[in-house]
Amino acid sequence: MTDPNFDFDLIVIGAGYGGFDAAKHAAGKGLKVAIIESGDMGGTCVNKGCVPSKALLAASGKVREIANYEHLAKFGIHTSPVRFERSKIAEHANNLVSNVRENLTKTLKRSGVEIILGFGRLEGNQKVGVIDKNGIDRIFTCKNTVLATGSSPFVPPGITLDNRTVFTSDEAVKLEWLPRWIAIIGSGYIGLEFADVYTALGCEVTMIEALENIMPTFDPDITKIAKKNLIQSRDIDTKSNVFATKITPGCPVKIELTDARTKEIVDKLEVDGVLVATGRIPNSKNLNLDSVGIETVKGYIPIDDQMRVINDEKIIPNVWAVGDVTGKLMLAHTAAAQGTIAVDNICGQNIEINYRSIPAATFTHPEISSVGLSEADAKEIAIKESFTLGVAKSYFKANSKALAELESDGILKLLFNKDNGKVLGAHIYGMHAADLIQEIANAISRNQDVIQLATEVHTHPTLSEVVEVAYKQAASQVK
Ligand SMILES: Cc1cc2nc3c(=O)[nH]c(=O)nc-3n(C[C@H](O)[C@H](O)[C@H](O)COP(=O)(O)OP(=O)(O)OC[C@H]3O[C@@H](n4cnc5c(N)ncnc54)[C@H](O)[C@@H]3O)c2cc1C
Repeated sequence: MTDPNFDFDLIVIGAGYGGFDAAKHAAGKGLKVAIIESGDMGGTCVNKGCVPSKALLAASGKVREIANYEHLAKFGIHTSPVRFERSKIAEHANNLVSNVRENLTKTLKRSGVEIILGFGRLEGNQKVGVIDKNGIDRIFTCKNTVLATGSSPFVPPGITLDNRTVFTSDEAVKLEWLPRWIAIIGSGYIGLEFADVYTALGCEVTMIEALENIMPTFDPDITKIAKKNLIQSRDIDTKSNVFATKITPGCPVKIELTDARTKEIVDKLEVDGVLVATGRIPNSKNLNLDSVGIETVKGYIPIDDQMRVINDEKIIPNVWAVGDVTGKLMLAHTAAAQGTIAVDNICGQNIEINYRSIPAATFTHPEISSVGLSEADAKEIAIKESFTLGVAKSYFKANSKALAELESDGILKLLFNKDNGKVLGAHIYGMHAADLIQEIANAISRNQDVIQLATEVHTHPTLSEVVEVAYKQAASQVK
């Protein structure tokens, strides 16, 4: 399959999850592949995202569980005060990052992928340039290029980082210290996960949200119950409808809050630390995208459902893009799926991604997850496509396993088409929600209907019966 007219069949720029999957898959298909990385192999997920944050959540989750003596007493278990070492928890996350990064690098090398360290860019059609840390600039020819340069934390104007007292998730994952009082700017999934970590480890949290309500990106029914358990019952104070317009690092950190409507300064806070979790921006600068006629949209590289880079619906030949830099469902497994699909299409297939079947999870204690449409979008589509929207709700308090675990606060909301039974989406709050959502994601991916799904037998007693109950309820409503 290798084309001798080029240095490589495929050059991937960026060795995050998206780039890794694309490179490994391409090498597996017999292509001559190079991957270029300017930072740490593994990108955000491995070094500053999923991996270290989940390690911190795992450790702090155990602290929370053991410290919750009232909960444990209901089982007849009595514990003494919990003692934890922050540095050991940080070490656990750090070691995991090193292990995963090492394994990923070895896997690429073993697959025959050439790793080139340096900053990559396009150099016109079928050419890629790389400047290494010594300033040496090399140009390679390649049949195809995959852009997988990922994203970085967005820091709103007025906020000054010192990466010690005012920092982003890039630093928070290192858990270098525990502020007595920390303000978290943003109540998306990253803000919520860190609020979970910090409160479990004894910090007081103030969560600041610019939109009208805390957790604005989650389903409203899920938010209601999640807010009660993840925010109100913890040492978290919330301020919504306000912008943190000025944050000055130091001891203390000074925060100025401005009303989102009146634009007047309404509050001033002095805290020990600030985590800025206000979203992420694409890494699309200095890639020389103009050289092949790529125009970004709000910084994102536009692609079609086959991962081909497009400009006003016109396909840019031989250039593909995957992962966060494309702005589609910015998650590690999306990036990986896009990477695989891009390579399959480079190899002559005709595969399209179905974003509606890609699940998302927030790994708080308990977890939140979702897949497919939001209820608001489903309502709109139902009107447009003239079908009746069905909503089935199933509760953890009716589930034997959840009751046995004394974790019965939870809900699953299933959205489906009442005319043909097709599953449109689901939103879950409750124990192991991140695992439970997969079954529904698979059903969406396979275009299954609830009549068929309701006949599938689930193990008793397991949390998966929450899904079964929802399917059965939904099936009884199909016309
Ligand atoms: C705190 C946190 C927690 C998260 N938790 C989860 C989670 O639990 N589950 C989940 O699915 N997702 C999670 N994410 C999101 C996930 O990390 C990203 O969606 C994922 O890493 C995107 O992968 P990517 O390959 O597109 O980009 P990235 O992982 O950002 O990788 C891009 C790589 O490209 C490199 N690069 C950039 N420009 C160049 C260039 N010009 N030349 C060479 N190299 C370049 C960068 O150095 C980087 O290594 C989390 C993110 C954060 C911040």
